Amino acid sequence: MLDRPNRQNDLDPLPAADRPQKARTDQDKVTPDPTPMASSTLSVHGGEDKQKPYHSLTTPIVQSSTFTFQDTAEVLRFVKDRDAGATTDREEYGRYGNPTQRTAERKVAALEGGARSLLFASGMNAITTTLLTLLSEGDHLVVTDGCYSRTQQFGREFLPRWGIETTFLDGLDATSLGPALANAIRRDTRAIICETPTNPYLRVMDLSQIATISRERGIVTIIDSTFATPINLRPLELGLDLVIHSATKYLGGHNDLLAGAVVGPIDLIDEIEGTRDVLGGVGSPHDAYLLLRGIKTLDLRVRRQNESAQRIAEHLEGHPAVERVYYPGLPTHPDHDIARRQMRGFGGVVSFDIAGDLDKTGRFVDRLRLPYVGPTLGGVESVVRQQSIFASSNPDERRKLGVTDNLVRYAVGIEDVEDMIADLDQALAGL
Ligand SMILES: *Cc1c(COP(=O)(O)O)cnc(C)c1O
Repeated sequence: MLDRPNRQNDLDPLPAADRPQKARTDQDKVTPDPTPMASSTLSVHGGEDKQKPYHSLTTPIVQSSTFTFQDTAEVLRFVKDRDAGATTDREEYGRYGNPTQRTAERKVAALEGGARSLLFASGMNAITTTLLTLLSEGDHLVVTDGCYSRTQQFGREFLPRWGIETTFLDGLDATSLGPALANAIRRDTRAIICETPTNPYLRVMDLSQIATISRERGIVTIIDSTFATPINLRPLELGLDLVIHSATKYLGGHNDLLAGAVVGPIDLIDEIEGTRDVLGGVGSPHDAYLLLRGIKTLDLRVRRQNESAQRIAEHLEGHPAVERVYYPGLPTHPDHDIARRQMRGFGGVVSFDIAGDLDKTGRFVDRLRLPYVGPTLGGVESVVRQQSIFASSNPDERRKLGVTDNLVRYAVGIEDVEDMIADLDQALAGL
């Protein structure tokens, strides 16, 4: 019942000038699902067969690096089907696919409303494998302001080695984004990668605007939607081509796995799969199982995190020991209007400036009893960090990166919000 084709996004990124492109297949023209199911239902059932091996209710972990054949005739049949691009119900070798991993891929695709998804060993692996698929020597990439630091590093330090130039956009305001993007786009621009909400100031950009400007020029649009989750944002419905997640964060949700995912139309995902087969950044069956298990509660967790983060942001905004709060759910946030139009929830991360210096901010973090101190977000446990001391040990370098000493990022978990607020209050009192 639940493994019917996902609603197809009707995107058709036009081919860039003079680039030979694989024709889109009929598989891309999936009929829209007449009764699309809600995220909570898809979190539980999406991508999973009702009847599973051994009559198991849960998807089994198929912990096998390879898959064997009965005889030569079966090999011949399999290779013939494979080379013809026909779908087969069996696997060949673990780097090309594994049943547990494929189920997790179908679940992520269902949640994003995309035709197909691929799983990777990490979020960065999903990003780099996707970019290396799309870009060739002589191509140009645009990276919007506030993208994940390692994505920026990949554009700055790695892509030039293969003759690929990157332009980093400054500014994301509703009025400046369009002109800045139009200005950055060149004849050889092949792809745009953006991210929203961004880390740590949770800036939200107008994705429809990016999709419109890019589509008419045949540019592939990619979004790192890790902070938003498919519960709060559906980028494919807004016209973007590819959605990437660090599944390590909200999708996994329990701080116990590393994984990445990319979702999009069949032809682009097929191409990216070809690269994954070569680069080898496939996720493990066990992590795929943990991801499947984690996603079952994605909708519950994210809704709870949205509510708690909103409460915490509102509470901190009125607190005398806090200088400024950054949360897209607050009317004082510069992108509140676009966030309200574009998102179903504002997310589980709240950033704020402590009224004080580096040491005072460190004291505040140390006085918190509830959250862990660390670099991640999106799990059931709240995690806090003082941005600057994680960025660099060198104060000059921190200034250059634009990280202020008193900025704190609080990634809200699923604990009771009153307990979190009481904990924040006791840590802020008499700092
Ligand atoms: C963590 C993160 C990544 C990288 O993901 P990994 O799973 O750690 O490789 C990419 N983008 C964003 C926004 C992230 O938060």
